[in-house]
Amino acid sequence: MHDTQEHYLLLTPGPLTTSDTVRQSMLKDWCTWDDDYNQLVQSVRRDLVRLALNPQGDSAAAEAQHDNAYTAVLMQGSGTASVEATLGTAIGPDDKLLILSNGAYGQRMAEIARYLGLNHQLQEHNELDEINLERLTQTLASDPSFSHVCVVHCETTTGRLNPIADIGHIVKAHNCQFIVDAMSSFGGLPIQVDQLDIDFLVSSANKCIQGVPGFGFVIAKRSALEPLAGRARSLSLDLHAQWRTMEDQNGKWRFTSPTHVVRAFRQALDELFVEGVNGRLQRYRDNQSSLVAGMAKLGFNAMVDECHQSPFITSFFYPEHFAFEFKPFYQALKQHGFVIYPGKVSNADCFRIGTIGEVYPADIARLLSAIEQTVAATVAGTANATKGTQA
Ligand SMILES: *Cc1c(COP(=O)(O)O)cnc(C)c1O
Repeated sequence: MHDTQEHYLLLTPGPLTTSDTVRQSMLKDWCTWDDDYNQLVQSVRRDLVRLALNPQGDSAAAEAQHDNAYTAVLMQGSGTASVEATLGTAIGPDDKLLILSNGAYGQRMAEIARYLGLNHQLQEHNELDEINLERLTQTLASDPSFSHVCVVHCETTTGRLNPIADIGHIVKAHNCQFIVDAMSSFGGLPIQVDQLDIDFLVSSANKCIQGVPGFGFVIAKRSALEPLAGRARSLSLDLHAQWRTMEDQNGKWRFTSPTHVVRAFRQALDELFVEGVNGRLQRYRDNQSSLVAGMAKLGFNAMVDECHQSPFITSFFYPEHFAFEFKPFYQALKQHGFVIYPGKVSNADCFRIGTIGEVYPADIARLLSAIEQTVAATVAGTANATKGTQA
């Protein structure tokens, strides 16, 4: 029996399980305009650009070459606030945004575009389908007024990884700017923004970098961000103004910044650099492949094919060999110390299990054993209940 006051593992797409050292780093108060804090902010911004230019830590030359071409802006709020700040600042009155969607987070970008009254078109796909590259090419070729294309990298709805390199080629061949929601992938696999020619990459503190929730960030191509003064449709979500303040005032945020969260993020970045992006990716892959193999043995099939599946989060269909209900299953696993995630796909019964955060293959082995026990108890319970009604 697991006390609810006790620590349980979050097997979710974030907020996720953080290390003790990340949590402990928050036990100090910071003054937002003090130099100590502003230096901390600047070091985080610098290291985010480093991570985006030289994710594997093996190409100092490439990093040096492009160091000044990209910059990082931190933005208060959850990840969505950073997506909204990016779209609301980057898309001008004469621009047109094409939104590629195969899941809830792509749909959320369309919702942002509707709220902000952006000139946009939504190219929808079924949640279980891949992005149709031919259709993308045709759309951009048939309408030269498109100026920007945005897509989600890891669509957290299903766990599918969209091919941002292939999409980026097409986007650039049509002279559009490329905006990537890499919320649930950045830091968990190498994404080289200069090679992919990404103009704006958006992510947040509480996903693969394994910080705590409270802010998001944008890695922006300087030449794309610089001309955007006065464009934003929102004061607090003005990406350009936030950037200028950070640049001109040495790491100052315009409004109260989540100081403890930024300090925790500094610690999380240090821990990522020790593990290395490749090391982290390997750990997530080990977590995910042992999860999928173990789940298949217990009758739970993954929704996305292995070749499109991200190592970050996996959707599983409800099993068919017994009467499965998510709520009691969730509660039983929570008693064992694991918190999983409900499904988000519209036309299929599924649930999700995240494999990111301070989570190791040994944790996945314990989870699988807890699932096995839960399934056995459910099947036995169902059999007894059936016997009971027959008697
Ligand atoms: C987590 C996530 C977001 C942001 O969600 P918030 O709840 O606002 O932090 C956006 N896009 C994707 C793909 C995500 O996984």
